Amino acid sequence: MAKIFEEDTYRKEIETKIKKIDHENKAIELEDTIFYGKSGGQPGDIGEIITNGQKIEVNDTIKSEDAIKNILKSIDSLSVNQKVTARINWDKRYKYMRMHSALHLMCASIPLSVTGGQIGFEKSRLDFNDPEKKINKDELQKKINTLMGNNHQIIYEFIDSKILESQPELVRTMSVKPPKIDGKLRFVKIGNVDFQPCGGTHVKTTKEIGEIIIGKVENKGRMNRRVNILLND
Ligand SMILES: [Zn+2]
Repeated sequence: MAKIFEEDTYRKEIETKIKKIDHENKAIELEDTIFYGKSGGQPGDIGEIITNGQKIEVNDTIKSEDAIKNILKSIDSLSVNQKVTARINWDKRYKYMRMHSALHLMCASIPLSVTGGQIGFEKSRLDFNDPEKKINKDELQKKINTLMGNNHQIIYEFIDSKILESQPELVRTMSVKPPKIDGKLRFVKIGNVDFQPCGGTHVKTTKEIGEIIIGKVENKGRMNRRVNILLND
């Protein structure tokens, strides 16, 4: 299965074939896919599968060991090898891309370990180990917006996973295991600002994120602080 979204995150539609059907879960696997499977705090894509003049809703996309499965509203009329047009819901995906890139900038702006995170349509968040309450909301917002205005390029690099043996600090989010493909890790590089293993979909430049607002900074447990981020659209 070619995971087109790993290198081209802007593809909205492809022609492909059904590779497998999972009747029990009303799910299919495509030969090639542009659908991101829920993982690493980024939601799975929704969208539609079009075949024989029929549009079938994709309610969710999940990721298992080596497969990406689309959960469909109905699989009744489908068969293996059938040609389909696969289309993602671009409004949602593009928002997740901007949010995901914004979270990497937040991560790069706070020199504390990340304990969790979640990308959402309205708001996203990262949790930090911040027992001394060092995070300052206004400073952070200013810092991230300045970084975005500098228009850094965002690119992907596939690097031998052994790099983590000598540089384990490259993994910023301890709760998320970076996805390994053929012994290689996919890294996301944001100019000279951020470099970390990540399987997610990002925008091409930081300018595309627009402007962000830091929402609530919440105390979650004795050491954990949750920083919410919103896009100022
Ligand atoms: Zn990421």
